[in-house]
Amino acid sequence: MQANIVLLPGDGVGPEIVSAAKLIFDAVARRHHHDFRYDEQLIGGIAIDETGDPLPPATRAAFERADAVLLGAVGGPRWDDPKASVRPEQGLLALRKSLGLYANLRPVTAYDELLDASPLRRERIEGVDMLMVRELTGGLYFGEPRSRSTTPQGVRAVDTLEYTDFEVRRVVELAFRLAAGRRRLVTSVDKANVLESSRLWREVATDVGAAHADITLEHQLVDSAAMRLVTAPKEFDVIVTENMFGDILSDEASVLAGSLGMLPSASLGEGTLGVYEPIHGSAPDIAGKGVANPVATILSVAMLLRHSLGLEAEAASIEAAVTQALAAGARTADLGAERPLSTLGMAEAVLAALDSAAP
Ligand code: NAD
Repeated sequence: MQANIVLLPGDGVGPEIVSAAKLIFDAVARRHHHDFRYDEQLIGGIAIDETGDPLPPATRAAFERADAVLLGAVGGPRWDDPKASVRPEQGLLALRKSLGLYANLRPVTAYDELLDASPLRRERIEGVDMLMVRELTGGLYFGEPRSRSTTPQGVRAVDTLEYTDFEVRRVVELAFRLAAGRRRLVTSVDKANVLESSRLWREVATDVGAAHADITLEHQLVDSAAMRLVTAPKEFDVIVTENMFGDILSDEASVLAGSLGMLPSASLGEGTLGVYEPIHGSAPDIAGKGVANPVATILSVAMLLRHSLGLEAEAASIEAAVTQALAAGARTADLGAERPLSTLGMAEAVLAALDSAAP
């Protein structure tokens, strides 16, 4: 297969983890005789420094020729001035908007080798294997009107929580398609006892569920879902929920895996172009030291191969290599290692595991 991949290293540890991930791409290409072509472009703070625009025209133009996008991270103290008119995060929002990325997928796996790195008890998290599907372009973060005004009663701020049945249906349908390849359980999370938008969400989810008799659908209120995530996380398979609930619950779920440095994500949407990135930020406190954990980015490569290029066997081989490298004791500093590996060292441990697997 020939594929064009846009690489967006971005800021902070972004360039370090993306170059580690590129080694994995290259190894998969060699092993399976694929021709992956890379097009490295600017996003975030570095794009502001070099062009004044956090998502410059050249980057947007590269998407036209791309099959998939791998992103590192954006942001950092250098661009944190609250008075600045352009900020790195605007590049990320513009990227999601311009590509119509309405669903964010975050798999959360508790690796046996890392159970003690989580603040939760081993027996609670052993065997956790869930997929969070968060709606990404609707709800409270985008609804209009939003305003602030001064009234006789004081300052008043307004945000609007809005969903159409179309927006709910497309993301819930995606969750069902993904559940079909897993343990066939969808948990739809809402606040239908209070919110009108959640009552619509539940109606649409029920309707989609009726068309998938082979997949179990359960509804859960967001407050009890938050509790169940830490008391009985193994019970979940696919969780689908609206934007803000997903934002909060997916960060809560990330704790189950022990480190932010372990968790990949995929943002999928209207077009065929998906964006893949670790869930963590630019980690300015460790940037430039070569110590960041590259595994979240490496696992994002696996998601890219699976969801954008349809290369399931290659994706699974990367995931197996990560598990094997961990089992062999490979650890970066965030995983509590006594003699931690560097970013490159960890990538090389995954490469060695890839090479040792049967072709
Ligand atoms: P962060 O995720 O960058 O870092 C939080 C903590 O986790 C830090 O101690 C960091 O060193 C550690 N960490 C993160 N990734 C790691 C890795 N791969 N290996 C080892 N340790 C890792 O979150 P933050 O500090 O709140 O944000 C820093 C910057 O990143 C901010 O400018 C923020 O806006 C931005 N950010 C960007 C994204 C994105 O690009 N998608 C997401 C979140 C935050």
